[in-house]
Amino acid sequence: METRESLAGVPGRYWHRLDDGRLQCDLCPRFCRLRDGQRGLCFVRARAGEEVVLTTYGRSSGFCIDPIEKKPLNHFLPGSSVLSFGTAGCNLACKFCQNWDISKAREFDRLTDLAAPEAIAAAAAESGCRSVAYTYNDPVIFLEYAVDVAAACRARGLRNVAVTAGYVTAAPRAELFAQMDAANVDLKAFTEGFYKKLCAGSLAPVLETLEYLRHETDVWFEITTLLIPGENDSPAEIEALSAWVMERLGPDVPLHFTAFHPDWKMLDKPPTPPETLLRARRIAREAGLRHVYSGNIHHEATQSTFCHGCGARLIGRDWYEITHWALTADGRCPECGTACPGRFDGPAGDKGRPWGRRRVPMRVGLGA
Ligand code: SF4
Repeated sequence: METRESLAGVPGRYWHRLDDGRLQCDLCPRFCRLRDGQRGLCFVRARAGEEVVLTTYGRSSGFCIDPIEKKPLNHFLPGSSVLSFGTAGCNLACKFCQNWDISKAREFDRLTDLAAPEAIAAAAAESGCRSVAYTYNDPVIFLEYAVDVAAACRARGLRNVAVTAGYVTAAPRAELFAQMDAANVDLKAFTEGFYKKLCAGSLAPVLETLEYLRHETDVWFEITTLLIPGENDSPAEIEALSAWVMERLGPDVPLHFTAFHPDWKMLDKPPTPPETLLRARRIAREAGLRHVYSGNIHHEATQSTFCHGCGARLIGRDWYEITHWALTADGRCPECGTACPGRFDGPAGDKGRPWGRRRVPMRVGLGA
């Protein structure tokens, strides 16, 4: 059992006491029940005495300036730079995790940057970023830190972007997304079996998050599905997923099908063949979705944005690089005037200069 000193943190929200004396964390649908000194599955929320604490407040696994396309977001300030950071831990346990060094961290050696919310907002503003992304690991589990950083960013006119698996309960979901301007939600598959077997989670709460975003907020969001050969890439599953998105969220929510590479506990699967991504895209387009993209490969034809009114190419893209820009300043097609769904604000990038594919690490705060 860990000591109270080793579990130092800030008071966490969303928990209650059970009759048997344990404290139940109500932040995510895992509902961990904690005795004194125990950590939840996410490892960063723990019981210290008579409260649940967040042990990673103010501690980051690192900061990087990324292109917004890397989140991925193709319809939110395209070409702009975003200051990205995460902490440690995760509330899912995906065997195919592509960020396992951060999400599975069991000690905090990786948390090298001690950064107050205002320091992060100042660093983003000074480096010319238009937004800050809560990414690398899921902001749901560091909610108290994420919302404080987000408030500091908004006070400086910066936007906030959550990259999340959407595995969260109703009240914290509302608190987190009230501070967000955009999100990319990982829809890992479209079967409960996949979530149970490969993520130790469940699909239903993720679908609830997507419907919540669409119908109860103004948050711009896009969906990413990592296609894993033999696990979630069958035409029948892609058809079901696409039909659900079309019916419940509408045709304008962008959908990204991205390529898997063998990682973490899933080394026995081959990388996703590009043809699988292209087939999935075809199926989703046939279901009526207007903006469906391939990811983690070079394929400009399926990474560019086309007008759904007349078919004109509005934004050319090669992976994270903007190769062509034809949108009007208010996000319309110059040929037919149809509005492209998304959040657009002037020309591509920061003050008209696309950030490109660069990834620039930076130090924020006090350091270790
Ligand atoms: S946030 Fe962490 S501690 Fe809370 S229920 Fe989820 S996994 Fe458990």
